[in-house]
Amino acid sequence: MNNFLYKNPTKIIFGKNQIASLAKELPNNAKILMLYGGGSIKSNGIYDQVKKGLADYEVVEFGGIPANPEYAILMEALEIIKKEKITFLLAVGGGSVIDGTKFLSAAASYAGEPWSLLTDRKPVLAGLPFGTVLTLPATGSEMNSGSVITRAETKEKLAMGGPGLFPVFSILDPEVVRSIPQRQLANGIADAFTHVLEQYMTYPIGALLQDRFAESILQTLIDVAPAILKDPSDYQAASNFMWSCTMALNGLIQQGVPSDWAVHAMGHELTAMYGIDHARTLAIIAPSHYRYNLESKKEKLAQFAERIWNITEGSVEERAAAGIEKMVAFFQSLGIDTTLAAYTDSYGGTAQAIAKRFTLRGWTGLGERGALSPADIEKIVEMSYA
Ligand code: NAP
Ligand code: FE
Repeated sequence: MNNFLYKNPTKIIFGKNQIASLAKELPNNAKILMLYGGGSIKSNGIYDQVKKGLADYEVVEFGGIPANPEYAILMEALEIIKKEKITFLLAVGGGSVIDGTKFLSAAASYAGEPWSLLTDRKPVLAGLPFGTVLTLPATGSEMNSGSVITRAETKEKLAMGGPGLFPVFSILDPEVVRSIPQRQLANGIADAFTHVLEQYMTYPIGALLQDRFAESILQTLIDVAPAILKDPSDYQAASNFMWSCTMALNGLIQQGVPSDWAVHAMGHELTAMYGIDHARTLAIIAPSHYRYNLESKKEKLAQFAERIWNITEGSVEERAAAGIEKMVAFFQSLGIDTTLAAYTDSYGGTAQAIAKRFTLRGWTGLGERGALSPADIEKIVEMSYA
C-alpha cells in the first residue's frame, strides 16, 4: 500500500427531514448566497424547505446555474458575492450547482483572472465557506473538494480543487430522489459506478480493504439500480443509492492506491464538444479504455469479473474481457448508450481533436501511472465511436 494522508472535514447530515436542520449549521450573522439550478427545486418542494431553514438569515438568491456549470454565468454570481459582501455560500442542487459553488468559493478571494484557477491546476488552499443541500446523488461533490467547470465560448471543460474546497456541511435527504427523472437517475448510478472504477481498476498492489470497499459500492449500486429506476420514492433504495454515490468519491477508496481518471479526462471533452451528459460520456469511453488497457489492468479486471459478476471460468484475459462486457451490459441496462455514434453523427475527427487538445495542454501522460500518451488517447476515443 502507498503512503497516504487522509482528511475529510465535511459534516454529513443524512436522512429524512434533515433539511429542517439547516439553520443549526449556518454561522451566526452569515450573509448567505443561495445558489441553485434551473428550477427543479421550485417544483419539488426543496426550495420551500430550504427557505424555511434560512428564515432568520439575510439571503440573496442566484438561480439558473445550468447542468455543466457555465463560467460566464458563474461570473455573474461572483459579482453579486462581491457587491453584496456575501460571507457564506449555500449550494442547493446536484453536482453542477455544487461544483459551481466551489469555483465561486475559490474565486471570491482570488486576485487573478478566475479562469486561471482552472488552467493553472494549483490546489486551492482556502475559499469562502459553503454548505450544500444535495438534490441529486451522482457526483460525490457534496463530500469532496473537486469541481468541474465548463466554458461554452471555448468549448472547454476543466477541473480544479484543493483542500480548501470541501463543503463545511452537506445535507443528504434521500427523499429528494423522488422527483429525479429517469435519465438523471441512470446518470447518477453510472457516474458513481465509474468513479469507483477510476480508483479501483488500477494495478493490484494488495490494498485489500480499499478493494473490498470499492467492490461493496459497485455491488450496492448494481443491487439498487433496478429498484431506484422502478420507483425513486422507494426510501430504502434511495438512501442506499445516495450514500453509495457519496462514498464513491469522498476520498476513502483512493487512499494508498494508484488512481486513473483518464475516462473522466476524455469524457469531459465529449461533454465540452457535444454537450453529452457527463455520466453518458463515461459509459462511452470506459469500455474502450478498459479494452485498450486490458493487458496492464487484466488482473484487476479479472478480480472485478469474479467478485462483482461471478465469472470464474477461463483464463485471466478471458475473465477480464468478460468483466468489461458485463460492465457494458450494466450501463445499457440503465438505458445508457455506450458508443459515441449513438449521440452524434458528426463524431469523425473527435479522437484527433481530443489528442490535440491534450497535447496543447501538456497532458502527455494521463491515466494510471501517467502511462497514456495523446496517441493512446486518440486510439481509445476512436475505439468508442461505434
Ligand atoms: P446536474 O447537472 O447537477 O443536474 C442535472 C439535472 O438534474 C438538472 O437539470 C437538474 O435540474 C436536475 N435535478 C437535480 N436534482 C433534481 C431533483 N431532486 N429532482 C428533479 N430534477 C433534479 O447533475 P449531476 O450529475 O449531479 O452533475 C453533473 C456535473 O458534475 C457535471 O458537470 C460533471 O462534470 C460534474 N462532476 C463533478 C464531480 C466532482 O467530484 N465534483 C464528479 C463527477 C462529475 P435543475 O437545474 O432544474 O435543478
Ligand atoms: Fe464523474
